[in-house]
Amino acid sequence: MAQTTQPDYDAFRREVRAFAETHCPSEIRAKVAANGKLGRREWSTWQKILHAHGWGAPSWPVEHGGMGWDLRQRHIFDEVMAECDCPPQYHHGLRHLGPVLIEFGTPEQKARFLPGILSGEDWWCQGYSEPGAGSDLASLRTAAVLDGDAYVVNGQKTWTSHAQEADWMYTLVRTSKEGKKQEGITMLLIPLSSPGITIRPIRTIDGWHHVNEVFLDAVRVPVENRIGDENKGWTYGKFLLERERLGGANIAPAFKALERTRALVLSELSAPQERMKRDLLLHRLLGLEAELLGARQMGQAAIDDVMSNRPLGLTSSLLKLGTSALMQQISEVALDAVGERLASRFRRADTANATVPDIEWVQNYMYQRARTVYGGSSEVQKNVIARQLFGS
Ligand SMILES: Cc1cc2nc3c(=O)[nH]c(=O)nc-3n(C[C@H](O)[C@H](O)[C@H](O)COP(=O)(O)OP(=O)(O)OC[C@H]3O[C@@H](n4cnc5c(N)ncnc54)[C@H](O)[C@@H]3O)c2cc1C
Repeated sequence: MAQTTQPDYDAFRREVRAFAETHCPSEIRAKVAANGKLGRREWSTWQKILHAHGWGAPSWPVEHGGMGWDLRQRHIFDEVMAECDCPPQYHHGLRHLGPVLIEFGTPEQKARFLPGILSGEDWWCQGYSEPGAGSDLASLRTAAVLDGDAYVVNGQKTWTSHAQEADWMYTLVRTSKEGKKQEGITMLLIPLSSPGITIRPIRTIDGWHHVNEVFLDAVRVPVENRIGDENKGWTYGKFLLERERLGGANIAPAFKALERTRALVLSELSAPQERMKRDLLLHRLLGLEAELLGARQMGQAAIDDVMSNRPLGLTSSLLKLGTSALMQQISEVALDAVGERLASRFRRADTANATVPDIEWVQNYMYQRARTVYGGSSEVQKNVIARQLFGS
């Protein structure tokens, strides 16, 4: 229900915590706590539980199934979920495409796509990046040519997270080479079961399969799957990314990672002869904790700014830049704690005895390398900050 007076945030926090602790399946929480990589099965299970409780889409308007929570409540919800080791909601449908459909979709598109996103039945992935079009996304070349009542799409997408388990891909394609490159881009919704689509896994250094190449060979996409106007896709794509600008304000996952790493250091290096190494690692964690506290303050201030209609300025870029680096550094401390022991096992080809949590610390360290690349690389964030500070 939409609110007119300021909500009781403490009571709300308690309500969310009670729900998370009671309703999030323990095996999913255990996997999150152990740095496990989640797939559609776990995310979809959790989304269905949230949806059944009426909490399926915290950020959507009430008329489309949202709860009418204000920004601080949405932030508390995300924070408590992380504190309770519940998975973040799968973002591609709910946080990315859903708001675009609500803002720019036709009534038919809303009726067709929003319910499946809300209930967790339909799974989406994002087909933006291409070889040669990542940070410079507007250089994308995958081409769509209108042929009767369908676009014929040819090209290649890459780094497409979860394409292997998704039903649909929202994508940006080139429909014109005239004018500025941002002006010839269109957003299409493509069923991944369409003839002409090939999905190939990209194996990353963490050993997990989460990104893919998606090849499109004369794929026919009905015109009714186009969002908004032809050649206006850049506007919708940017709207989608800007909605996520405060994603970095939720520092709770980083605090959880820090807590887990501190427990690891204490248990891993408990022998008296390891005391110096243990204390050095704990000292590093203290420094990181201080930085996280600063980032949390910045995140809270940013929420206040948005709720009071004040401009955000540099904050979202600073948060993305800072929290990506902090998550990497926390994972480095964990690797320094377990690395030596694991390396000696690998040297003895004794990998069968390396327990799964051990391996997951290493995988997590590897995975964290991607943080400073996806969602706007650190170098690109620095450019944004420099432009705001000094002008372009
Ligand atoms: C784990 C993971 C998941 C991803 N998931 C998706 C997804 O689901 N869908 C999707 O569409 N994409 C996805 N991506 C792609 C991601 O958005 C791109 O990797 C990112 O935009 C960077 O593009 P690039 O890889 O082409 O690198 P490039 O843009 O070529 O950058 C290479 C290097 O150059 C630097 N650089 C680039 N431009 C500048 C500049 N102007 N000034 C200074 N330095 C610069 C970059 O910071 C980087 O270090 C994912 C990537 C990863 C790693």
